[in-house]
Amino acid sequence: MSATLERGIHAFKEVIDAPVASFFSSCVRCGLCAHACLFYTETEEPKYTPIYKLEPLRRVWREEYSFWGRLTKALGLSKPVTDDMLTEWETLVYDSCTMCGRCSMVCPVGNDIAYMVRKMREGMAASGHAPAGLIGATQRAVTIGSPMGVKLPALQAQIRHTEQDIGLPIPVDEVGAEYLLLLSSMEIMNFPEFIGAIAKIFNQAGVSWTISSEAFEATNSGIQIGVSDIAAELVERIVSAAEKLKVKSVISPECGHAYMAIRWEGPNLIGRPYSFKVVHILELLDDLREQGRLKTTGKETQRLTYHDPCQISRRGGVVKQPRNLLNMLAEDFVEMPESGTMNWCCGAGGGVSSNERADELRLKVFNRKKQQLDAIHPDAIISACSNCRIHLEDGLEEYGMDMPVLSLTETIAEHLAGSEQPGSKE
Ligand code: SF4
Ligand code: SF4
Repeated sequence: MSATLERGIHAFKEVIDAPVASFFSSCVRCGLCAHACLFYTETEEPKYTPIYKLEPLRRVWREEYSFWGRLTKALGLSKPVTDDMLTEWETLVYDSCTMCGRCSMVCPVGNDIAYMVRKMREGMAASGHAPAGLIGATQRAVTIGSPMGVKLPALQAQIRHTEQDIGLPIPVDEVGAEYLLLLSSMEIMNFPEFIGAIAKIFNQAGVSWTISSEAFEATNSGIQIGVSDIAAELVERIVSAAEKLKVKSVISPECGHAYMAIRWEGPNLIGRPYSFKVVHILELLDDLREQGRLKTTGKETQRLTYHDPCQISRRGGVVKQPRNLLNMLAEDFVEMPESGTMNWCCGAGGGVSSNERADELRLKVFNRKKQQLDAIHPDAIISACSNCRIHLEDGLEEYGMDMPVLSLTETIAEHLAGSEQPGSKE
């Protein structure tokens, strides 16, 4: 056995906790999870059945922790995991799984397959079977602080431009602010209007907030690739910045994966509770709406639909808040078939968008989103995840569909009451 394989098998043994063991032992092999996964439905290839993507991990569980598995291993009748097998499964566990959790919703015995995929990635990464794109993003996250290599001067430049554009200050390193805003690199580089939108909304609502120059990046490549030590280090950076600035809450931005990482995984990764709350930006905006501090004017007249980012809606439970906010903004809002917690993934989450090898496949499975859109014919899509927005734009272009993809936060800012910025649709 090679040293890398040995490391991988060791990592598999380590990650097989009580939930993983019970999930494997209770699987009845019904195959229902296949029909919930867009990689299976859009390709009809059996290898994309969610539980099958976990076969190496299942073999290790069976050989090490089940009576029959141990017996067959002792008799030399088991099929051990090999390097070739891990090479083959690398594409199944990284390229064809966005950890969207849709399969977990339909499993009759309650197996959380997305959780198991995350665990399996630990062993894959330890054995050197992780995609180059994700390795590069993770290295940049550790050394530079951003998976896209965005450094503080780039953020400072965007802040200066935004301040000139909107005539409002963007607070940085303000000790004692109530909220610390995180940003994803994609927002900083691809959608910098998001920063201005936040500044305008918070200015109107009287929210005390700041950005940290030491920890502005929200995304956590350690979780995506499956290296818990790195994931914990990235969470710690945010925690220590929040503690240093003495904020009461940290705001996860329009990024699905970031919310899952900082809100749900973070305390477990670092092994202690936070001294602050974590809220998704949509939760905060909906709270402000409820308190009467978020006031809009005019409505979008075009037919709008909402793409639920998997980690925000299905895994995060933020489902009613975007709809409350859309009710303020949209004259003609229409739900996609199977929306909310059962929405279909865009196909690019869970590190798939950082993995160039998966580009062809992610565009192929976008056909599922196309079918959802074809059923309702919206004029535009609104979402709350930069990664989803980029992939939705890519997918729409690939399928020749001319449809803008908007940010919910930015659209709210365009409709702020009293806002005089050009382009306001009153
Ligand atoms: S739906 Fe659940 S029980 Fe059925 S095959 Fe998939 S993991 Fe197993
Ligand atoms: S988590 Fe999503 S992408 Fe991954 S196997 Fe399940 S349904 Fe498919």
